[in-house]
Amino acid sequence: MDELKPCPFCGGEAELIRGGDLQLGSTVHEQWSAGCKGVEDGDCCGVHEPSYFTSSFAAAAWNRRTPENAIREVIADMRMAKSPYCQAWADKLARALQGSAK
Ligand SMILES: [Zn+2]
Repeated sequence: MDELKPCPFCGGEAELIRGGDLQLGSTVHEQWSAGCKGVEDGDCCGVHEPSYFTSSFAAAAWNRRTPENAIREVIADMRMAKSPYCQAWADKLARALQGSAK
């Protein structure tokens, strides 16, 4: 089993989860994602990677998820929302991220 880094948000243990198989044409693909175990205890937001066809890809994607990368993803999601409230928060997060990089 691939080693998983701790959750970038809560530092808790992460786990690999096998989702339902996905059939594309005549090929059946396994679906794997990695996520924070803290969601079961309710002490984390339960961040999860999207699904990948192998557990190794899911683990690699999870392990690249540094706090900075995770925040960049959140900023990108917020920018897609049309609400001015979300834009304002995206700007604040972007500034905070720049500040922490110095
Ligand atoms: Zn967590």
